[in-house]
Parts: sequence; structure tokens; C-alpha cells
Amino acid sequence: MNNFKLAQPQNIEQAASLLSDKKVFLMAGGTDLLDEIKNEIITPDVVVDLNTIPGLSYINSTDDGVHVGAMTRVSKLAGNQTIKTSYPVLHEAALSLASPQLRNVGTVGGNLCQRPRCWYYRDPQVECRKKGGSRCYASRGRNRYHAILGGGICHIVYPSDLAPALISLDAEATIATANGSRTVPLQEFYTLPRVDVQKENILKANEILKEVKIPPPKNEQKSTYVKLKERGTWDFALVSAAVCGIVSGKTFKDIKIVLGGVAPIPWRLEKAENLLKGNPVTDDVVKQAVKEALSDARPLNENVYKQDLAAIAVSRAVLSLV
Ligand SMILES: Cc1cc2nc3c(=O)[nH]c(=O)nc-3n(C[C@H](O)[C@H](O)[C@H](O)COP(=O)(O)OP(=O)(O)OC[C@H]3O[C@@H](n4cnc5c(N)ncnc54)[C@H](O)[C@@H]3O)c2cc1C
Repeated sequence: MNNFKLAQPQNIEQAASLLSDKKVFLMAGGTDLLDEIKNEIITPDVVVDLNTIPGLSYINSTDDGVHVGAMTRVSKLAGNQTIKTSYPVLHEAALSLASPQLRNVGTVGGNLCQRPRCWYYRDPQVECRKKGGSRCYASRGRNRYHAILGGGICHIVYPSDLAPALISLDAEATIATANGSRTVPLQEFYTLPRVDVQKENILKANEILKEVKIPPPKNEQKSTYVKLKERGTWDFALVSAAVCGIVSGKTFKDIKIVLGGVAPIPWRLEKAENLLKGNPVTDDVVKQAVKEALSDARPLNENVYKQDLAAIAVSRAVLSLV
């Protein structure tokens, strides 16, 4: 592990002003960042500790929705009564995430900005495209956990459980710089490898994710998160489905479906949403809608199974809401 300086700013503007260089990294809970440093995936000159900034950990309910500060620990989110009652998809996603120890330390901002778990990216011996090399080793290598959609030049999947849940709820992200802030729909926060293969989101070098805002729940809104994993204990999703809809009897007046574990970004299934809207749902109807929505999937040699898992995850989620 290389030596680095630790900066402990007192406010977010000061933190952002330290972020000019590629060798400067933000640290929230450190559960991902420190692994990256110890495994020499990154070699920082400076680590900027967000823990010294007061006021970045909060869950505030207001007229325009619930505001969640980036430094809010995942365990606080999972334990919050408003989140549990009004946004079950987010409560369930938070509870499904990692282990109690990791949820106690990991933060909402860190979860949304964590780096991918691809074993080629995480291997210090491998210089893949994401680390500036010229190849994606997953495309012809071991790829059972990799992307079936949106990959192309790099087949990572985005590993966060909170991201699909928050996108299904139409959450927005507030991004801070030294001079102010901007707000974007969380769905637009994530970017595909073809935009910049070394990044997973739109954050510029001097920007920090400050908060996410979730709009107030609508009448008859129901939501849930289904996560399919290889193991019964803590694990990343093979495939997950975040579903949020306006339900009337057996039909959805409106529905949003976001998959995790299938693409380098949380993946909206808009085609399936349109097929399901206004029609009574059954297992067959949902699975057929997902199949059609995934007709442009390009599975790799070891991960064809993810197409079936996606249909199962969405079907379980959708049917549990009617
Ligand atoms: C064993 C294990 C199992 C796990 N299982 C799951 C799982 O099932 N589901 C899941 O979703 N995750 C899982 N994770 C990932 C875990 O949730 C993340 O490590 C954690 O959420 C990151 O939060 P953190 O606060 O520790 O971030 P850090 O490690 O401090 O930071 C992570 C990254 O985000 C950047 N960053 C942090 N905060 C900000 C910010 N506010 N603005 C901009 N950039 C920022 C950092 O620079 C760094 O690159 C697992 C991790 C481990 C080690």
C-alpha cells in the first residue's frame, strides 16, 4: 500500500476544492476505497476524508420529498421508518445489501459511487480497459457475473443495490462543487463504458455527490426489490429487480422496472413497462414482457442464464404488488 496524505476538510466546498487531480480520492465509509488502495488498484497521493464534514448524514422529510445526505450510513437508511413505510423498494434494497457490519460503515454516497467488482478490474496484475489497458478480458474470459446489456467495450455490471431502487422511485442526485451544486435525475447519473470506459458516472474530477432526493409517494404507489444471489448469506446480486408502480386491482396504471446486475448501469426496462401498463398481470405476461424487453441483450458465453433470472426477478416483484 502506498503512502498518501489524509485531508480532513470541514465543509463540502473545501473538500471539492481539493479534488483537482486524478491522484486525489474521496473517502466516505472506506469499505470499497480502502480495498482498492490495499490491492493497489488505485495509488492515491491524497485521500479526502468526508467524515470530518458535519451535516452530511441526514434523512429529512419535507413537502418535496425525502432528502438523504451522502454520508448517511446504509444501516440508518434501512432502519428509517419513513423509508420503510413509504418506499419499501429502498428499505428492502438497503437491507439486502452486504452484511450488517458493512451497512453500519458504508454510506449511501459511497454505495452509489462504488467501483465495479469485475474480477479482472480488481486484479492488480491485469491491465484491463477500465484501468487504461486495451482489452476487456471478460469478453472472452470468465464472464458469468458480467453484463448482458450495454457492455460492448467493457462488461462490468454496476453493483449497487440502492441505485436501481432509487431510480425506480425517480430519485434525483445533488452534486456539489467548490462553487455551488447541480441536480440531475439519478438515472442520468450513471454512464455506459462507451462514454468513458474508466468511469461509471457523470461526476467531474472536482465534484462530490451530496444528497439524493426521493419525491413523495403517489396515491396507490407500491414498490418492492427482488435480489437473486448465488448464496443465502451476503452477496452481490446476480440479477435484481426494483419495481415501483401505481397499482389498481391486478393492473398497473404506471410502472417503473429497473434491473441490477445485468449492465454497467442500472438498466430501465421501458419496453416491459409499456407492455405491462394497463393490462392485468400474470406470471406468463410478465415473463413474456421481460423477454421482449431483453431481445437486444448480448449475453457472453457464461452468462446466458441472466436472461431467465431477469424474467424471474421481475415476475416475482411485479406479482407481489398486485
Ligand atoms: C464484502 C462486501 C460485500 C458487499 N456487498 C454489497 C451488496 O450486496 N450490495 C451493494 O450494493 N454493495 C455491496 N458492497 C459494496 C458496499 O456496499 C460498498 O463498499 C459501500 O456501499 C461503499 O460505501 P462507503 O461509504 O464505504 O464508500 P467508500 O469506500 O468510502 O467509497 C466508495 C467509492 O465512492 C467514492 N465516493 C464515496 N463517497 C462519495 C461521494 N459522496 N461523492 C463522490 N464519490 C464518493 C469513493 O471515492 C470511492 O471511489 C459490498 C462490499 C463488500 C466489501
